[in-house]
Amino acid sequence: MRTPKTREDWQALADTLRPETRAFIDGRYVDAASGATFECRSPIDGRVLGQVAEGGEEDINRAVAAARRSFEAGAWSRATPVHRKRTLQKFAQLVEAHADELALLESLDMGKPVRDARSVDIAASVRCLNWTAEAIDKVYGEVAPTGIDELGLITREPLGVVGAIVPWNFPLLMASWKIAPALAAGNSVVLKPSEKSPLSAIRVAALAAEAGIPDGVFNVVPGFGKGAGEPLALHMDVDGLVFTGSTAVGRRLLQCAGLSNMKRAYMECGGKSPNLVFADAPDLDRAAEAAASAIFYNQGEVCTAASRLLVERSIKDEFVARVVAAGRRMQPRHPFDPDAAMGALVDETQTGRVLDYIAKGSAEGARLLLGGQRAEVVEGGSYVEPTVFDEVDPAHAIAREEIFGPVLAVMAFEDEAQALRIANDSEYGLAAGVWTRDISRAHRVARALRAGSVWVNYWDGGDMTAPFGGYKQSGNGRDKSLHAFDKYTEMKATWINLA
Ligand code: NAD
Repeated sequence: MRTPKTREDWQALADTLRPETRAFIDGRYVDAASGATFECRSPIDGRVLGQVAEGGEEDINRAVAAARRSFEAGAWSRATPVHRKRTLQKFAQLVEAHADELALLESLDMGKPVRDARSVDIAASVRCLNWTAEAIDKVYGEVAPTGIDELGLITREPLGVVGAIVPWNFPLLMASWKIAPALAAGNSVVLKPSEKSPLSAIRVAALAAEAGIPDGVFNVVPGFGKGAGEPLALHMDVDGLVFTGSTAVGRRLLQCAGLSNMKRAYMECGGKSPNLVFADAPDLDRAAEAAASAIFYNQGEVCTAASRLLVERSIKDEFVARVVAAGRRMQPRHPFDPDAAMGALVDETQTGRVLDYIAKGSAEGARLLLGGQRAEVVEGGSYVEPTVFDEVDPAHAIAREEIFGPVLAVMAFEDEAQALRIANDSEYGLAAGVWTRDISRAHRVARALRAGSVWVNYWDGGDMTAPFGGYKQSGNGRDKSLHAFDKYTEMKATWINLA
């Protein structure tokens, strides 16, 4: 069994880290064609972690060309599924073997508690790679129900070159949800990580190569959205574009697909998830703990953060007092502290955005019950206190817009119908929760909630076995489970005349 690391252990490991900062194209690390770099800063203390290659159009073109060449050459795209399975399993083993290093890179890069990075992000990335690898040699085609004189075969083929653009909140995990099924299905991939968290993606490229993924099949081009993301989204030789990030950028990428070659485009976007607590919830203490961690975990930088808490009026004050008490225990600490429930926000821009929303909440008349300030944890770092607003009106900005920070908006409801009206009155539809002892109500409400995932009497359930994605402007397409392969394959009908 591993001994848990102390803050000093993590710091000692961090002191020895020399992160790779170049792009990975066609099997090797390279500088950006222009020679440009951008500064990568840690929000833990504002320290510069490195100068990262700033990929641009020329780098994207080189990566896409390498991906196309490798796809056509067939060493990966035409390999047997069992070969791809074993190679991806090896990749998963290598990620696991470097879990501490990868967790540390993510914590340094975007500020989350390193313990969570290790036990959630990296562990779930390994599970995702393994689960998807194991699945790929168990997926069959179909035979159409034809007459005796013909044979109709329904088969799946890889798309070709897939461009993947991912965010910074779960850097390696969001990348894994894309690259695992894309690679398993036989595609070649160009991954553009967020400019706010490029280090773990750059690092795993070498592990993929070490596992035996051929040159050109997996490329990583760091850079900004406009400079590197758009050229990838607009590229005429990219067959599929998969994205996780904000709804505004997701909308833009759908346009890019339409403006270029009509590449398959799947967007996983933002959320404003409602958590509905009825007076007959089975255990109010547990529900309150869950409501707090559902908004404060990962500093609230979670697409499924339960940012709207809807509570039945008769228990509202008592329940909210318990949520506030639970939130108070989750104050941010240094992300290397093994007991940290919250770390730093990703950067000063995001911190400013969150503080602006807090100011707006007060200005609009909501009642501040907890937090509301920057937290002074480490000099030069970006920390915000867990914040709870009560008496929020469903029309307030903090009830409608995705803040992506540790800010909870509490609203009361009188009955089930009103709860559902408020919950569904959103442009988003990613996730929702319902707490009740009444099994009929649980099913009725779960069915009526317009969300891609619904959790009953807990929050954030799920593993690789179920699809994950959004209704409405939370996106299209689904990550995880066998359904993920739909995004990375074309479906072919082959008809054979037997007469
Ligand atoms: P973002 O949209 O700002 O950036 C995401 C990625 O898109 C980054 O790599 C960025 O460089 C790139 N990008 C930005 N502008 C671009 C452009 N014009 N063309 C091409 N690429 C561009 O999002 P973010 O701030 O990194 O992440 C937070 C968002 O991600 C939140 O809205 C959150 O809800 C969402 N998210 C969704 C899910 C999900 O599964 N639905 C999961 C995690 C995060």
